[in-house]
Amino acid sequence: MDMDKLVSLCKRRGFIFPSSEIYGGLNGFWDYGPLGVELKNNIKQAWWQDMVRNPPPGPDGEEVVILGVDCAIIMNPRVWEASGHVSGFADPMVDCKKCRKRFRADKVWLAAYVDAEGVSEADLLAVVEQLRTSATAAGTVSQAVASPKLVVPLEADGRDEAERHTLSKTQQKAFKHKPIRLLFPLPQAPASWPRKCPACGEGDLTEPRSFNLMFKTFVGALEDASSVAYLRPETAQGIFVNFKNVLDSSRVKLPFGIAQIGKAFRNEINPRNFTFRSREFEQMEIEFFCHPGESMKWYRYWRDVRKEWYTRLGIRSERLRPREQGKDELAHYSIGTTDIEYLFPFSNEPQELEGVAHRGCFDLSQHQQFSGKDLSYFDEAAWERDKAALGFTSFKEWVKSNPPKEQVEKYQFIPHVIEPSAGADRFTLAVLCEAYDEDEIGGEKRVVMRFHPRLAPIKAAVLPLVNKDGMPERALALYRELKREFPVFYDDSGAIGRRYRRQDEIGTPYCFTIDGQTAEDGTITLRNRDDCVQIRIPIAAAADELRKRIRD
Ligand SMILES: [Zn+2]
Repeated sequence: MDMDKLVSLCKRRGFIFPSSEIYGGLNGFWDYGPLGVELKNNIKQAWWQDMVRNPPPGPDGEEVVILGVDCAIIMNPRVWEASGHVSGFADPMVDCKKCRKRFRADKVWLAAYVDAEGVSEADLLAVVEQLRTSATAAGTVSQAVASPKLVVPLEADGRDEAERHTLSKTQQKAFKHKPIRLLFPLPQAPASWPRKCPACGEGDLTEPRSFNLMFKTFVGALEDASSVAYLRPETAQGIFVNFKNVLDSSRVKLPFGIAQIGKAFRNEINPRNFTFRSREFEQMEIEFFCHPGESMKWYRYWRDVRKEWYTRLGIRSERLRPREQGKDELAHYSIGTTDIEYLFPFSNEPQELEGVAHRGCFDLSQHQQFSGKDLSYFDEAAWERDKAALGFTSFKEWVKSNPPKEQVEKYQFIPHVIEPSAGADRFTLAVLCEAYDEDEIGGEKRVVMRFHPRLAPIKAAVLPLVNKDGMPERALALYRELKREFPVFYDDSGAIGRRYRRQDEIGTPYCFTIDGQTAEDGTITLRNRDDCVQIRIPIAAAADELRKRIRD
């Protein structure tokens, strides 16, 4: 599928527009149009319904409890000190000294072309290893690696993309032998290689320096250090700082989860790939709190539940790849993370839709330390069960008797957290990519968006076959009945075939057509989007039929 076709359909039919487009847009920001907002709302509602109100039974068949919150976007800045975002939420960046363009250091790749006869790429890579530890390069091969004849700077998301670089015929002629290419992201490239700008090709790049990705603002009238605040870079922290509030107000017991859907902001250096990497985006996150001893069980539960959810909503499983992160990729606090990735048409490598992370007790411990508030959980049931055997009636009295720390932590501890964190915009984009299809109906080409009926922005169109013989009146009456319950569309203009095509292109799963037979026997046709098959049903059964089909 061609990404340009999808972007153009999104614009033409009102799914997604560039933000503030009449002023030339703003890089990394997007607006959802009339159909886009319905689609994205359906996605958020499906998540809330399936994860918060009706999550699947737990690993042992037990009920799973999830409670919702909706927190402020701007929080006390101490939150971001505790979470590590103020000091750690930064990507090393490099700037071009000439054209001033800024790049993420790890997204700049250097392709060095080495002129050396009779050596293999492996030999040359071994020399690169040596160059890392010693600055000197003895021998001709080492010399050739330390100062290659040609080093081309590239901007690329990963090795796969960087590997597509090839030399022109003229460039190849400058080499005596067929050159061997060595490819490194900037931070790992030998220090002796020239570091030029991938954009203008001329300017030198600065040393990498950190750049915080949080949007900064000021609260109140004074714009000074004391009034600095940030737009939240994730929704998770709002949940952690409300852990005690939810626990105390809802009288829930471990394990349970807290869920939030909301906007988050990251000042991405290089927003790209349509809405995939935006500066303003919406997250759907759960923090699931559990006993440390049960955390791996719940980690596996959420990993499987979340993958299954995407499949159920029509994402074909071969494009959906759960990938356990390697040790070097894990955030410092994470015991394990699975990325649920999707193969978007804009890349050969699957891209992250969702991360399911085992965060241990990192977040609550940090907030306990920074806020000075006790965020531990007391397992009353376990204490009630064991207290007689321990010979105490009061937990406090027992703690005063100095039992071993591990003993105390059986009853009072900082819960461990499993975090399934999904991107609403990313999933919306995946749904759009997955739905886009072109086929032929009766010798005529059509574009059809094969949305899952639950996610489709418009559930049904109501169409009078012609504008006479009482058909519009009957059609309007049906439309008015259906729209009380469903997003439906009324269309009486143009040939019926063209009206069907217009609905196919926006993914409307069903069309109800009122024709000459309706006046005779009270039936209408129900046309199915995917195979264009039509059946007749009583007009009185239309709402029931639609309800049933959307739910299944
Ligand atoms: Zn430049």
